Amino acid sequence: MDLNETSEESAFRAEARAWLEANVPASPLPSFDTEEGFAQHRVWEKKLYEGGWSAVSWPVEYGGRNADYIKWLIFEEEYYRAGAPGRVNQNGIFLLGPTIMEVGTEEQKAKFLPSMASSEIVWGQAWSEPNAGSDLAGIRSKATRDGDDWILNGQKIWASRAVWADWCFGIFRTDPTADRHRGLTFILCPLDLPGITVRPIAQLDGDTGFAEIFFDDVRVPVANTLGEENKGWNVAMATAGFERGVSLRSPARFSEAVNRLIHLWRTYADPTDTALSDAVTDVWMQAEGYRLHTYQTVTGMLEGRPIGAEASLNKIFWSEMDVRIHEIALQILGPEAERMEGPFERWVDGFLFSLSGPIYAGTNEIQRNIIADRVLQLPKGM
Ligand SMILES: Cc1cc2nc3c(=O)[nH]c(=O)nc-3n(C[C@H](O)[C@H](O)[C@H](O)COP(=O)(O)OP(=O)(O)OC[C@H]3O[C@@H](n4cnc5c(N)ncnc54)[C@H](O)[C@@H]3O)c2cc1C
Repeated sequence: MDLNETSEESAFRAEARAWLEANVPASPLPSFDTEEGFAQHRVWEKKLYEGGWSAVSWPVEYGGRNADYIKWLIFEEEYYRAGAPGRVNQNGIFLLGPTIMEVGTEEQKAKFLPSMASSEIVWGQAWSEPNAGSDLAGIRSKATRDGDDWILNGQKIWASRAVWADWCFGIFRTDPTADRHRGLTFILCPLDLPGITVRPIAQLDGDTGFAEIFFDDVRVPVANTLGEENKGWNVAMATAGFERGVSLRSPARFSEAVNRLIHLWRTYADPTDTALSDAVTDVWMQAEGYRLHTYQTVTGMLEGRPIGAEASLNKIFWSEMDVRIHEIALQILGPEAERMEGPFERWVDGFLFSLSGPIYAGTNEIQRNIIADRVLQLPKGM
């Protein structure tokens, strides 16, 4: 791993910085978990796309600029440094897009990737069900073959941003007689088809960040199958690898949060409170450690060593670090943190959202099971 930037990488950083400085909205957009905020974030994504920055690591023909992972990390550092808006189409660009590139047909790549990069189509992830979250292979929503169509029936839950998203990627049971992991198929589906009902779910803060999706005899072409029929589990695990690996939560997100925390500590904390300054130092070291570890992982990926079950280590690390960063911020703010307005609002919102990190993308308990089993190869519990 070489931490020195090449001149090409420095030029890339300078170009990204200049574009972001000229284009990032002067004030934060409303939350993308509101209708107005969602629409404004979509406009922002279009602008990013037109600048060639929405999916930097994708091939040029699909709307990217063929940047390698190191440049992607550099772009992310610049993106967070500039305080640019959250990525409303992250399910598409960071999770589904790479999966389509890995297992999709040429037709599917041409059909879905450019409109994803431009966020003309925003994607939701329709995997979890009321009785199948951690136990994802327990899903009961089914797809039944009828000629060239699938007929979808069932219920999904916790689909982020699905209230206003255009399409979803779901997993459906297509062979009820097969083993739990074998009879599943990965299907892409527009959310405005007859038979689909999207019901918003309000979060702790009142915004509708999630939705339930009900499928009642929804007809979609078999051509919308991603990967092979009944092999949807393998496709979903490729997506989950991207979700837990490096693409969903880049280190820059946490480095930026820690920089804001240091600013908060300098402005409001009692400098004689050494326990607090130790806590801030410790979390800074965690963010820096995660940054360096990610550069190491990405270097390995560039050298042909794909990220495997170790992705679960990343997921636990960043999610627990995020909670800690926000806990320390609330400790610094004390009772002031109760004021859900002004400069503190972002910390309170961030704290509430950080609590969900150990749950989404597969709970941390499940990640620990995966590490015990596949990384450490420990014997199964009694
Ligand atoms: C912010 C957020 C966004 C999300 N977005 C999406 C989305 O876009 N699309 C989507 O499909 N889903 C989404 N989810 C759902 C998420 O994937 C599930 O909540 C998660 O997989 C856990 O499933 P569950 O809620 O059914 O909890 P359960 O599976 O019922 O788990 C309950 C508790 O039991 C523990 N547990 C369960 N099984 C085991 C075991 N074998 N060993 C040890 N502990 C166990 C869990 O760790 C957890 O603490 C999102 C969730 C959140 C919080």
